[in-house]
Amino acid sequence: MAVKKKKRGRKKYAKSAARKKHAKHAVTKKRAVPELRDIFIENRAFKTLITSAIEVYNRETNGVMLGSNTMKEIKGGKARVVSIKEVYPFQTEERKPSEVVHGNVAAFRRVLRTISSFESEIVGGYHSHPHPYKYVRLSKADVESISEDIDAMAEAGQERVKKGWIEVLLSIKRKDYARAKGREWYICDYIKRLRCHVRTRAKVGYDILLSAYWVYPKPNPSGKPAKKTEFAIKEVGVYVPWNLD
Ligand SMILES: [Zn+2]
Repeated sequence: MAVKKKKRGRKKYAKSAARKKHAKHAVTKKRAVPELRDIFIENRAFKTLITSAIEVYNRETNGVMLGSNTMKEIKGGKARVVSIKEVYPFQTEERKPSEVVHGNVAAFRRVLRTISSFESEIVGGYHSHPHPYKYVRLSKADVESISEDIDAMAEAGQERVKKGWIEVLLSIKRKDYARAKGREWYICDYIKRLRCHVRTRAKVGYDILLSAYWVYPKPNPSGKPAKKTEFAIKEVGVYVPWNLD
């Protein structure tokens, strides 16, 4: 049987009349802005993110992030963050240099249902923008596909992301060097973003700029029913175990 392919940012999920009615009722209430916490990426999750972006270079990687709200000691004070404990890179996607699509929708849904069976909570997703990229930011198509993924995840029992989704963007560029050097890796700390450099061969390395964004339903103070959920984007800080002080 031919597998129906989902183009990221295109497919619409059918809504039943009952769900539409419910949605109409819901938008008449004032929608609160979620608490837009910075994120803390745990050691192993961070290494999986970086490795998955380098693996498929110069195509886009993507996957889901699992985690929970927690407190962390950051730069001398306690901070409320979302801790990213695990990441799962999708294996069945169609990857291109400037696009990634759900190559097998049934497989994508199986991943979501399995995560729900394990009682793990999805807090958002990630994907890469391989060089050449013009800007470090989410595109309109990124937000559309996130909106569709939120619906698919809610159907699979993942409710948290409906209030707000965290997307990590990995802007990745391969570097070729004239001078050979041993393997190494390090992190540079910018104000909100981080740059991770990994030297994988004597003359080859990768620079990966990590940035994180909340994508959440825009507050609706008018209370008028909206046809479609509009999303707001807010960049937040990224912390890893190596830049806490
Ligand atoms: Zn993108």
